[in-house]
Amino acid sequence: MDKQAQLDQIAADILSGNVCPDLAKNAQLVMGHGSLDADIFIIGEAPGKEEDEQGIPFAGKAGKILNEQLQNHALPRDELFISNIVKYRPPGNRDPSPQEKVDFWPYLEQEIALVDPKMVVTLGRHSLSSFLPDVKIGDVHGVLHEREIAGKQRVFIPMYHPISTIYDKERRAAFAEDFTQLKAYLKNKHQS
Ligand code: URA
Repeated sequence: MDKQAQLDQIAADILSGNVCPDLAKNAQLVMGHGSLDADIFIIGEAPGKEEDEQGIPFAGKAGKILNEQLQNHALPRDELFISNIVKYRPPGNRDPSPQEKVDFWPYLEQEIALVDPKMVVTLGRHSLSSFLPDVKIGDVHGVLHEREIAGKQRVFIPMYHPISTIYDKERRAAFAEDFTQLKAYLKNKHQS
């Protein structure tokens, strides 16, 4: 089965498994999107209004900020894979609940195993807490971490959520700097 067919199968399993039925009642399933052979796998929190309408992660305001950073760091978006911890829009854009994150975790792991990226980027505290509970994003953003994810030891780098950088100049600078770190890490990895 090719990778697209496998991604479609993960989506079909979410639907047939009736994952988070309360969310599913009012939202469409937004699966990860991008290159299925990406080096970088980016994980946000959950779809918002635009993402729910378009069926693509980071299609709205947060996506614009993310795209700007990607462009500034010569990271073409179509060469990355971008997904979310929770794959339905929570009503009124509330935070995803801990249970919703747990319910979707196996499917996120399947997406990661399928893409098998060189590194994972978490955006925001909800995405981070599924990988590193009990830490503050302000203390760990931009720091490379390693742990087993989807059956393999993997490197991940926590970053701020793009939307949280809108009105905060320092965070915006930190967000840009963390992408510079990520580029440096990948460059070293390609050379070694
Ligand atoms: N915020 C997220 O975390 N994910 C999206 O897809 C859009 C906004």
